[in-house]
Amino acid sequence: MPIATVNPATGETLETFDPLGPEETERRLAAAHAAFRRYRATDFAERALLLDRAADLLDEDRDAVARTMTTEMGKPLAAARAEAAKCAKAMRWYAAHAEALLADERPPQADVKDSGAEHARVHYRPLGVVLAVMPWNFPLWQVIRFAAPALMAGNTGLLKHASNVPQTALYLEDLFRRAGYPEGCFQTLLIGSGAVEAVLRDRRVAAATLTGSEPAGRSVAAVAGDEIKKTVLELGGSDPYVVMPSADLERAARTAVTARVQNNGQSCIAAKRFIVHTDVYDAFTARFTELMAALTVGDPMAESTDVGPLATEQGRADLEALVDDALRHGAVALCGAKRPEALPRGWYYEPTVLAGVTPQMRIHHEEAFGPVASLYRVQDVDEALDVANDSPFGLSSNVWTRDEEEQRRFVQDMEAGGVFFNGMTASHPAFPFGGVKRSGYGRELSGHGIREFCNVTTVWHG
Ligand code: NAP
Repeated sequence: MPIATVNPATGETLETFDPLGPEETERRLAAAHAAFRRYRATDFAERALLLDRAADLLDEDRDAVARTMTTEMGKPLAAARAEAAKCAKAMRWYAAHAEALLADERPPQADVKDSGAEHARVHYRPLGVVLAVMPWNFPLWQVIRFAAPALMAGNTGLLKHASNVPQTALYLEDLFRRAGYPEGCFQTLLIGSGAVEAVLRDRRVAAATLTGSEPAGRSVAAVAGDEIKKTVLELGGSDPYVVMPSADLERAARTAVTARVQNNGQSCIAAKRFIVHTDVYDAFTARFTELMAALTVGDPMAESTDVGPLATEQGRADLEALVDDALRHGAVALCGAKRPEALPRGWYYEPTVLAGVTPQMRIHHEEAFGPVASLYRVQDVDEALDVANDSPFGLSSNVWTRDEEEQRRFVQDMEAGGVFFNGMTASHPAFPFGGVKRSGYGRELSGHGIREFCNVTTVWHG
């Protein structure tokens, strides 16, 4: 895949970039390593000053960087602005809270009495240079979600961003430089995915985090495993969205649309499988389909657009193949399932609702990375859970029910890293984010996220 900005709204290649050669990659690796040795000695106040300054700059740059994101990957401009604002908030959150999250820990004195460990403590130290392999779908947020805690913990970062968002990647390096971070603390490596292995194997790289698809995760985790290096994997998802009879159906249907088509349907935590109790199936389906069909598909720079193009031509082809396979195996398209005729240029696809999805169809097991919803009719809580859990993924989940006993069952039995009731999955810096099964392992955000790239050290005074 060439490293290039290609506008998904037109298919036009706007700028291409040469990948870094081995010498420049080596220079940057050496800089990251040298920077770590100095930066690790800074205190939390110094680190917080830098991160707060970067957040202020990002706020000032919001409109410009939002346009860059929209140009490179096609998300609606308003969503791009919101993404930039969310990043600045998360940076300030970690600047304010990192010291407390990484405070030394001591067990209760009664537990260690007369053991010789009365003065021992757990101390969180940074790991070193962390390689971040990141996707294009939230090109700022995914990076900041890693960088803010990693830098506050005293690590340095190397970013290998997706090849279709090079200008956003370069913007991020520039942001941290302008904020005053010492040289080498945060650098972008413009390299293709084939060059990742050599960087990861380099002895100066301590760990890696990857957000992206299952094949990419498997490949990076295999190399890291071979090198015995820590990894965090945030991979795909096919989140269930369960609607039970006690749900507020109008809110459930409206939220379902947002949950499915946010980011043009290209979000790991988008609701993808809609599992509806038979008592409310017809009413929910009618309203949901009506709202999906009424969405405005068009130029992502236009404020009136709900759904822009898919980010890549290949991404649309993959989505079309999933829908075609489902239709061939008996699914019924209640709306969409085609390219919009009025938009012949660019990689647009109409919001689509598929009914009658079965385990024989690829879309039942694979991630639909675009505005395509699969519907299932179920008889009770047990069947809802069976369908929800019949997926290789386990990122997050959404359940609409006001029944407390049903809520207890879903918390107990849902195979996912999140259970969101009467709303859609969201992320907040104070709460951990991540999945189980093939959605990956490890957590980002909160205290769990910042400790992933720490050397958890027992310090014992005799
Ligand atoms: P992708 O194709 O896996 O790419 C992600 C990153 O991995 C890119 O930087 C890519 O580089 C790199 N990469 C790909 N193959 C690699 C390999 N064999 N070795 C090393 N690096 C490799 O995924 P994407 O299309 O950008 O993103 C969509 C996927 O990300 C979806 O599955 C989505 O669910 C998932 N995602 C998960 C989360 C989460 O938090 N769980 C969040 C967002 C997205 P190139 O661009 O150069 O190929």
